[in-house]
Amino acid sequence: MPDIIQLLPDSVANQIAAGEVIQRPASVVKELVENAIDAGATQIKVNIKDAGRTLIQIIDNGCGMSDTDARMSFERHATSKIKSANDIFAIRTMGFRGEALASIAAIAEVELRTKEHDQDLGTFIHISGSNIISQEPVSCDSGTNFQIKNLFFNVPARRKFLKSNPAELKHIINEIQRIALANADISISLHHNGSAIYELTGANKRVRIVSIFGKNINQNLIPIDTETSLVKITGFIGQPKHARKTFGEQFFFVNHRYMKHPFFHRAIMQAYEKILPPDAIPSYFIYFELNPADIDVNIHPTKTEIKFENESAIWQILQASVREALGKFNIVPSIDFDQAGSVDIPMPLRDYADIRTPEIKVNPDYNPFNQASSTRNYPGTEKSYTPAPTQRGNLSSWQSLYKGLEPDFSEKKEEPEADPVQFKMEEQQTLKSSVQFKNKYILTPVKSGLMVIDQKRAHERILYERLIQVMETNEVACQQQLFPETFELNASDAALLTSILTDLRSLGFDIRDFGKNSFIINGTPGVLDTSTPVEIIESLLEEFKNSPVNLQEKAREKVAISLAQASAIPYGHALKPVEISELIDNLFACQTPNFSPKGKKLLSIMPLEDFEKLLK
Ligand code: ADP
Ligand code: MG
Repeated sequence: MPDIIQLLPDSVANQIAAGEVIQRPASVVKELVENAIDAGATQIKVNIKDAGRTLIQIIDNGCGMSDTDARMSFERHATSKIKSANDIFAIRTMGFRGEALASIAAIAEVELRTKEHDQDLGTFIHISGSNIISQEPVSCDSGTNFQIKNLFFNVPARRKFLKSNPAELKHIINEIQRIALANADISISLHHNGSAIYELTGANKRVRIVSIFGKNINQNLIPIDTETSLVKITGFIGQPKHARKTFGEQFFFVNHRYMKHPFFHRAIMQAYEKILPPDAIPSYFIYFELNPADIDVNIHPTKTEIKFENESAIWQILQASVREALGKFNIVPSIDFDQAGSVDIPMPLRDYADIRTPEIKVNPDYNPFNQASSTRNYPGTEKSYTPAPTQRGNLSSWQSLYKGLEPDFSEKKEEPEADPVQFKMEEQQTLKSSVQFKNKYILTPVKSGLMVIDQKRAHERILYERLIQVMETNEVACQQQLFPETFELNASDAALLTSILTDLRSLGFDIRDFGKNSFIINGTPGVLDTSTPVEIIESLLEEFKNSPVNLQEKAREKVAISLAQASAIPYGHALKPVEISELIDNLFACQTPNFSPKGKKLLSIMPLEDFEKLLK
């Protein structure tokens, strides 16, 4: 048999390696910006076209390269950052594998202009799919200017795998955010299709955080500063009241490198235990500094996990520092301080009377069912509500649902008839005996036991069906705002909102993109509460980010679901008897009254026998 094993040509090997290092435009941005930082740049400009599909340009004022180095930099395993395997344990640079440029050059068209500061002329190199097209002297600025064009032009499978432009742009923004937070002293700008997303000038960490996440975060930042022989921990944690339901403002950095660390995340979550609602996640921006020999960044080129030599000791120091910071700011939970671990960090406990528990803002006047009291107009809450045609056609399923659940008070033995008038009467009788429980559930006696309804999920269902109806019938009712409100989002939320603006318009929102991550709301859907449109948009984005990706779900539906969730009456809201009855009334006029739009059960019956068993 002839021998069949061959060495792969470099270009093929590089393409395969590229698959590991470069997964999407954001990976290119990350590698090139990290190279610029390693080159000592104090100013980095990132220009992107079409979410990086057409162009990624990175300009830095770093040390630049000689003509030989410029050529060498595209070879695989070519690096100026380590010389021997031992150097890996003293890494202070972001890169060291010498793979990034070779990988990028294998799957794109690359133009490099670079000049060392003490030289008059620089070098221009043009490479396409690992082939050098040209190399010549060029007059250019000191530093390095990379242009990456037509990414994945020779790897169609990769190109197909890319997500929508807003999704890819969001990845890029996330990378820039991480690098900008890790290197607050470096000026970084990001422009997309000519408009600025970030223009960050070198600053301290606090200013950098505020310029990325908006000025509202400023008064919510609690500083952390702990130094031990093992590790130095600085940065900020967020006040509990600033905590959100989704991830987005949680950052760990080690020696200027972003990292994910689920184990350390738990240390922080435990420190906040009992001062946060169970599903809330505090913000944090934590910077670890320690001897590079005590960490291992060498796990995988694209992985952001990092191994620590003294992980459990650092865990305890971290948790104690967070508790201490919360303590200093009088945000002291009723915790068992023994848990603070063996690290002895004093925990100032001041006036307990001052302790602020996290609050959920509730508008006491908020009455989603009372149309007369305000301009708010909730779906189907009109006093003399008659079901819309589609809903009316559904009365028979309403009936079947209510079968066996007939109100207990009824003397009448026959099954209810499919006569709307009859239903009306029955409902009213049922509702008289409905009560709200813990401001969260509605309890209604039915023939076979006790029906429990989740008030928020029920309202979500009602709103959702109304929103879907608006979309399907195109009967968009937009209520113009008397005073249009402007608001600003962080860059990634702005990109997300932009990507769903059309769907929001089809629901009745009139929102304009103002540029620079700011927007104006001129009108809101007629079927929603109009008093707090900005808050609704913010929670809509939260819900949207929070919901797992379900490809079956159409984007429009997802917007409708998130919007219903964001505008439904919250838990903890007391309902008047008439509101309870409206809620039940509207719920059972829905096509699918027993599940929330997200498919969660919203009602259940506790059978009579169970009560009997309980009291045996
Ligand atoms: P690594 O960063 O792991 O060394 P790369 O492939 O990213 O590998 O880069 C190869 C080499 O090219 C680097 O070691 C560095 O010497 C040089 N280089 C890359 N980008 C720049 C830059 N922006 N400025 C100066 N030198 C650079
Ligand atoms: Mg590199």
